[in-house]
Amino acid sequence: MTPNVRPLVAGNWKMNGTRDSLDQIKAISEGVKGDLSEKVESLICPPATLLYVATALCEDSPLWIGAQDCHQNASGAHTGEISADMIADCFGTHVIVGHSERRTDHAETDHLVRAKAIAANAAELTAIICIGETADERKSGQTLDILKRQLAGSVPDDANAENTVIAYEPVWAIGTGLTPTSENVAEAHAFMRAELTRRFGDEGAKMRILYGGSVKPSNAKELMSVDNVDGALIGGASLKASDFLAIYNAYSEILA
Ligand code: PEP
Repeated sequence: MTPNVRPLVAGNWKMNGTRDSLDQIKAISEGVKGDLSEKVESLICPPATLLYVATALCEDSPLWIGAQDCHQNASGAHTGEISADMIADCFGTHVIVGHSERRTDHAETDHLVRAKAIAANAAELTAIICIGETADERKSGQTLDILKRQLAGSVPDDANAENTVIAYEPVWAIGTGLTPTSENVAEAHAFMRAELTRRFGDEGAKMRILYGGSVKPSNAKELMSVDNVDGALIGGASLKASDFLAIYNAYSEILA
């Protein structure tokens, strides 16, 4: 955790979820209504098809609803794409950019991810910018170099603690059940904190840095207790309300 920073527990549903799954969003939106919501923020990013109806379901809940990607342009001839303004128009508040699956499946570069984050901020959305090393990069000792390069390339110059969240997601930990040790997470997050503070001053010192990669109820408390870990980005375990809420509720013990 970072002192005086409100953690964010965020779920990325990826290409999962149909109207039937709205029951899970409803259950999460009810489950986060307690006192803990004054200290911990929560967010679900369902597929775009569910965005509008999900925000309507959460009108009276502290649960934020966001999207998983946006185009870098505000509008135009880009078949199949969704703009940041369209997300805001559906009352979405956040958008994930640069997820490793987008970087791999769609060859997204740091330069493009930065353009998407700028578009998100222009639409008054908070950009959740994902970075992280592959297994080979970790094995060859390049983790911190990769994080430095991705932070420098993907984070816009006018990023601040309100409009930007960083998500550190080691690629090899996503969807695999593998997680780095707490020491590895602490080293990566301390490094990112130093880089962000050097570049953005006070804003960098309080910018949230989430950990993502096989977070589940059984490891959430340990991972989210690490210094400079200001919440989690959760894939698989966010699809079930009970698992997502168990991870979110780990903060009642962490903050006790
Ligand atoms: C993710 O895709 O952002 C993620 C962290 O997935 P999982 O929790 O399933 O590893």
